[in-house]
Amino acid sequence: MSLVTTHHPYGVLNLAQATARRAFSPRYFSSSAPRSKPRAVILGSGWGGYNVLRGINKQEYNVTVISPNTYFNFTPLLASTAVGTLEFRCAVEPVRRYTPEATFYQAWCDEIDFMTKQLKCTPASRPSESEPTGDSDTLVKVAEPFTIPFDKLIIAVGAYSQTFNIPGVKEHAHFLKDVKDARKIRSRIFECFEQASQPLLSDIERRNLLNFCIVGGGPTGIEFSAELHDLIHSDIVRHYPSLARLCKITVYDVAPHILGSFDQSLRSYTEKTLSREGIRILTNHHVERVEKGKMIVKEVGEVPFGILVWSTGLSPNPVVAGTSAVTKHEKTGSIITDEHLNVIMTDGKPNPDVWAIGDAAVIPDQPLPATAQVAAQKAQYMVKKLNKIAKDKPYPRQFSFHNKGSLAYIGNWKAIYDRTPGEAETFMSKETGRVAWLLWRSAYFTMTLSLRNKILIPTCWFLNWIFGRDITRF
Ligand code: FAD
Repeated sequence: MSLVTTHHPYGVLNLAQATARRAFSPRYFSSSAPRSKPRAVILGSGWGGYNVLRGINKQEYNVTVISPNTYFNFTPLLASTAVGTLEFRCAVEPVRRYTPEATFYQAWCDEIDFMTKQLKCTPASRPSESEPTGDSDTLVKVAEPFTIPFDKLIIAVGAYSQTFNIPGVKEHAHFLKDVKDARKIRSRIFECFEQASQPLLSDIERRNLLNFCIVGGGPTGIEFSAELHDLIHSDIVRHYPSLARLCKITVYDVAPHILGSFDQSLRSYTEKTLSREGIRILTNHHVERVEKGKMIVKEVGEVPFGILVWSTGLSPNPVVAGTSAVTKHEKTGSIITDEHLNVIMTDGKPNPDVWAIGDAAVIPDQPLPATAQVAAQKAQYMVKKLNKIAKDKPYPRQFSFHNKGSLAYIGNWKAIYDRTPGEAETFMSKETGRVAWLLWRSAYFTMTLSLRNKILIPTCWFLNWIFGRDITRF
C-alpha cells in the first residue's frame, strides 16, 4: 500500500486511489427500477420538492429525489427551535418516509444537462472525518460523482442567503436557513451566557458577549429577535438573573422600514411593540464589514457582538446560477417559468419536461414573494399536473396563487397578520396582537405535515409554558 496520502474533502485517500478517482468521469448511474414508467426526478426536499414528493403518483412514475438534506425543513418554526421554544425534530420531516416507493439520494445536483436529460450529482452523504468507513475503496465510492437520467424534472432547489459580498459575513455571521443553522445558533446563544458568567470578565466584556445583533428586518430577522427576546425575558432572567439586564437585541436594516412586505399600519405597530419591549430597530444602517466578534456599521462604527444572525434576503442557488441554458430573472437570478411552471429555455421556448418551483423560480407576470406558501401551492399544482400527464390527460390550467395572508411573530405572545397586499381590505384581513398570535400558532400547527409533529409541537409549547425552555447546551 502506498504511504503517500492526499487530503480529500471527504477523508484521506492514498495517492493511487486519488489519481484513479480523478481519472474517472462521473459514474453513469442506472437505477435498478424498471424502465417502463417515466423517470421523474425532484431536485430538493424543501417546501417545493417535499410537497411534490408527497403527492406525486408513485405508481405512475419512478420517482427519485436528490437533495443534500435527508429531511424537509419546516422553516417557519426554525426561529422557535433556535432558542429552545421547540425541539429541533418539530421542524423536520424525514424524506425516507416516502421510500422505497420513491428513491432518494443524499446528494447535490451540480449540473443539469437539458439536451441529454441528465443530472450530474455529488454525494452529500460523505463520511465525516471522525468516523471513517475504514475501507478506502468504499470511501472513494461514497464520494464519487454520478449521473442520473430523467424524463421529467422538477427543479426545487430553493435559494441561498444573500450577503451582498460584504466581507466577513460568510465567515463570522450565523444564517438561519436550516435546522443545522438553528442548532448552531442555539448552541452559540447559551455559550455566550456561559462565557459571560466566567468570573474574570469585566462588565464591558459581558455586555459585548450579550450584544445580540440581527441584520435584516424581514420576517425571519424579526421573528428571531422576538423569540430571542422571549427567551431572555422568561428563562434567562430566572437562570442568569445578573446577566439578563446586560442583554441587548438590535435589528439593523439598510431600508427605512422593517417588514417591507407588510402593510404600513402593521409595520408601525411592530416597530412600536418591539421598541417597547427593548428591541432596538436601527433602519437606514449599513453594515460594511464583519470580523470575528464585531461588525463595522457605517453610521455607528464598531459594534462588538456575541452573536450576529444574518438574514438579508436571497441569492440564487449555485446550480441555478451555473446553468446557462435557461432564462433567468434580471434582478433575482431565479429561473423564469411560464404560467404552467415550465422552464423557459434561452431560445424563449418552454421546456415541456422541466418545471421550476419555489424560491428558485419566478413567473414574470406573477411576481410572487419567496415564501413557503408560494412554493407549496406551486408544488400542489405540479402534483395535479404530473398525475394527469401520467395518464395522458391534458392539464391546460395555469398556475394561480391564492393569498392566504402573511404572518409574523413579534414576541410576547403577539403577532401580525396581513392579507391585504394585492387584495381589498376585508373582515380580518389585518390583525395584530393576541388574535394574530392565535392565527400564527394555529396556522403553523395546521400546516405541520406529520401526525408525530402535530402531537410533538403542542406538547413542546405546553411543556415550555409549564417548565420553561430547554437551556442546556450541547
Ligand atoms: P427550500 O425550502 O429552501 O428547499 C430547497 C431544497 O433544495 C433543500 O432541501 C435543499 O437542501 C435542496 N438543495 C439545495 N441545493 C441543491 C442542489 N444543488 N441539488 C439538490 N438539492 C438542493 N415562508 C412562509 O411562507 N412563511 C413563513 O413563516 C416563513 N418563515 C421562514 C422562516 C425562515 C427561517 C426561513 C429561512 C424561511 C421562511 N419562509 C417562510 C420562506 C420559505 O421557507 C421559503 O420560501 C421556502 O422554503 C422555499 O421553498 P423551496 O422548496 O423553494 O426551497
